[in-house]
Amino acid sequence: MALNRNYIAGDWVDGVDVNRNLNPSNTNDVVGEYARASRAQAETAIEAASAAAPGWAAATPQQRADALDMIGSEILARKDELGKLLSREEGKTLPEGVGEAMRAGQIFRFFAAEAVRVPGEKLASTRPGVDVEITREPVGVVGLITPWNFPIAIPAWKIAPALAYGNCIVFKPADLVPGCAWALTEIIARSGLPKGVFNLVMGRGAEVGEAILNSPKVAAVSFTGSVETGRKVALAAVSRGAKVQLEMGGKNPMVVLDDADLGTAVGAAVNGAFFSTGQRCTASSRLIVTAGIHDRFVGAMVEKLKALKVDDALKAGTEIGPVVDQSQLDQDMRYIEIGRREGATLAVGGERLNRDTPGFYLSPALFTGTTNQMRINREEIFGPVASVVRVKDYDEALAVANDTDFGLSSGICTTSLKYASHFKRNSQAGMVMVNLPTAGVDYHVPFGGRKGSSYGPREQGRYAAEFYTTVKTAYTMA
Ligand code: NAD
Repeated sequence: MALNRNYIAGDWVDGVDVNRNLNPSNTNDVVGEYARASRAQAETAIEAASAAAPGWAAATPQQRADALDMIGSEILARKDELGKLLSREEGKTLPEGVGEAMRAGQIFRFFAAEAVRVPGEKLASTRPGVDVEITREPVGVVGLITPWNFPIAIPAWKIAPALAYGNCIVFKPADLVPGCAWALTEIIARSGLPKGVFNLVMGRGAEVGEAILNSPKVAAVSFTGSVETGRKVALAAVSRGAKVQLEMGGKNPMVVLDDADLGTAVGAAVNGAFFSTGQRCTASSRLIVTAGIHDRFVGAMVEKLKALKVDDALKAGTEIGPVVDQSQLDQDMRYIEIGRREGATLAVGGERLNRDTPGFYLSPALFTGTTNQMRINREEIFGPVASVVRVKDYDEALAVANDTDFGLSSGICTTSLKYASHFKRNSQAGMVMVNLPTAGVDYHVPFGGRKGSSYGPREQGRYAAEFYTTVKTAYTMA
């Protein structure tokens, strides 16, 4: 099996170790072998990015747009192949994998267009005869550190704006999903970027990740991952004055009111809580349901969840793929046990399943009779596990929805304009959905949360300029 290498200073480079990437639907299937870089190699990549930075900052908007357009167009043309690789290495179903690849392509195309309209302003000064210009300049070298659960879309939504606004990149993907990162890099490497503008360094967080965090040459770090790692990233970056952007966990509420359309509510909850095996930061893990619809909602959910087809991510008809690996599966099982011990009722699921191939299969688990104080409702599980919290009315539902350390996304299912409007205004989340799953967002608008979920400027859409540029105010006396 050929070794897939790191991409540093425009060259493909061996690592110090090999990462064998296993298919979570079938652990006998080795997806590929990927070179793990050392700390010293990460430092070489940072040097290369730093050397390339002045040239890339001076590149014309057209040059940047052309490269981004070429990358986005190739991803879209190869979406089926890339989606299959994604599903094979991460375990989300094939339609979800192809959808994610498409989204990555669209993000590159969006930022190709943004590259030729980097915003600025010119104003009259308060002093006579003086003009004031406000321009945006690249930040310099940016370190991009990504998680395993969206192995192509999250890298895309960091890499594309970084390049569009003239920055050079050192990209460290999660150890579990080097395949998509490598395939994306192979496309980027053929897009005409000057050497050193984009570097891929696969490797461990404690080695490659920390080299990025601690280098004085890395001016900004964009991180998506767990709260625990995010805190380390923030401390390291802030202590040396680097810009930092964090997207972390969630414990997202989905409120279902008595007046909701039952089919809409069940559809949104099943999708939001369990699709992509519940491994989404925007997953609806707390289903907050008012008393009048509670029993009908739970009954319909249990029927729907029993009927979901859990199997190999690449098999036609599979609705829920495997959990990503053994350690995530252990965490899911541990929380299911914690829920039972806390007195919650496991209404359905939560069982290890055997399929034709050895994989990490778990049936979607729904707890009922839970309170918002239970650990299963306070801590992120990151698997196909959700809880129902019964409440008496809308006011209690809103209070429970907001009673969390997180604030990424939230949702409400209702046919009442009054409650929908009130919830949109008063939900303490960065993204609010009405009659839609809490997960599943557009690529051209801001993404991010509040409280423990996010830190720093938003990602995606035109709001990405806030993180990937630095503002200059220039005065001219004519
Ligand atoms: P993780 O925190 O374990 O790892 C994220 C990345 O950080 C990986 O690339 C990892 O190698 C790297 N890393 C680990 N230790 C490091 C260190 N000391 N220094 C620098 N880098 C280090 O997270 P994960 O398990 O890959 O992803 C799951 C988590 O990501 C969940 O908590 C989920 O909610 C979160 N997530 C959040 C969003 C969002 O936008 N809010 C999106 C997707 C996933």
